[in-house]
Amino acid sequence: MPGKKDFVVTPYEVKGRIDYERLREQFGTQPVTPELLSKLRHMAGGELPPALARGIYYSHRDLPALLDGYANGRPFFLYSGRGPSGPLHTSHLLQFQLCQWFQQRLGVPMYIQITDDEKFWSSKTGIAREETAHWGVENLIDILALGFDPKRTFTFFDSRSIGALYPLAIRVARKVTYSTVKAVFGFDPSTNIGLVFYTALQTVPAFWPSWAEGRAVPCLIPCGIDQDPHFRISRDIAEGLGFPKPALLHSQMVPGLLGESVMSTTGDRSDNALFLNDPPATVERKVRNAFTGGRATVEEQRRLGAVPEVCSIWALWRTQFARTEAEFVEVTEGCRSGRLLCGECKSRLLERVQAFYRSHAEAREKTKEWAESTIVTAAPKPL
Ligand code: SF4
Repeated sequence: MPGKKDFVVTPYEVKGRIDYERLREQFGTQPVTPELLSKLRHMAGGELPPALARGIYYSHRDLPALLDGYANGRPFFLYSGRGPSGPLHTSHLLQFQLCQWFQQRLGVPMYIQITDDEKFWSSKTGIAREETAHWGVENLIDILALGFDPKRTFTFFDSRSIGALYPLAIRVARKVTYSTVKAVFGFDPSTNIGLVFYTALQTVPAFWPSWAEGRAVPCLIPCGIDQDPHFRISRDIAEGLGFPKPALLHSQMVPGLLGESVMSTTGDRSDNALFLNDPPATVERKVRNAFTGGRATVEEQRRLGAVPEVCSIWALWRTQFARTEAEFVEVTEGCRSGRLLCGECKSRLLERVQAFYRSHAEAREKTKEWAESTIVTAAPKPL
């Protein structure tokens, strides 16, 4: 296992045990402070979602200005995306659950980008175009089923929305040099030209409402901190094109079930994550076999307590499955004190996860009826 200093975080690679505070300093972003959370709690009617209350979203760029603008009658919109190469797993939902919370509490529009083109260009395993298109639709349904409002949610499905994206992508592309994308993403002479152009397409949704409405509409992008470099480019060129810089809200990565620092499933590590299409028996097997912070024996755990910070089960409680702060504290303290043993903890979590899968499957069926209607296919103006 690498030490705390040995970690790598880029848009295309995350490895090692990440020192998040050091990473934030390296990236030059601001911490999410208690004052900022208190302002947000007040604006949202007195509550925060788990991902904010428990420090998972811990870093930002320009969030206070965006919230001040909202408080003074200047609404913003949300933008997030998904590169479809297979079924979603639970940690993919984190940023969308936060967006849904913002939409529900503050009534703001949501823009989703499904990057079926980028997944095809960036795939190291040679994924087929038909597959990225197929998973794009399936992933979109899963995302929308989290409770997004069909009237206020818009999807750029890259290969199908290119007519809407392209007029603005032309302008964006002229502002981004090859040396910039090469430096940010580490491209080399073997990189295909699709990926070189892709940064322009990924930037467009951050500016699209401002362009479409002919006025400055602020944008908030919740994303994993590994995606910050993508949007640094968008921020660098925004003002030169007459658009506001998008604000960013960064999350930590959700650890994998096998004890790795991120829930990546590349290669043969499908047991590292809970996929939304896993049958109940598979979910149970994965949870039962998950890496924990428990001790070697029951006696030791009762005496010394366990270590939640390294436990993949605790990470699931923390990020998504503890419904209240009281429950989260109870699990955490029970773990640390040795009152709660890993077998019981896993059984409790399993019940919660299975209940989520059942309700999500129902919501998914209803969402299928309207998911396609969110896809934007036409530009608001020709140029
Ligand atoms: S008691 Fe639960 S949270 Fe603590 S180490 Fe065991 S499985 Fe993880």
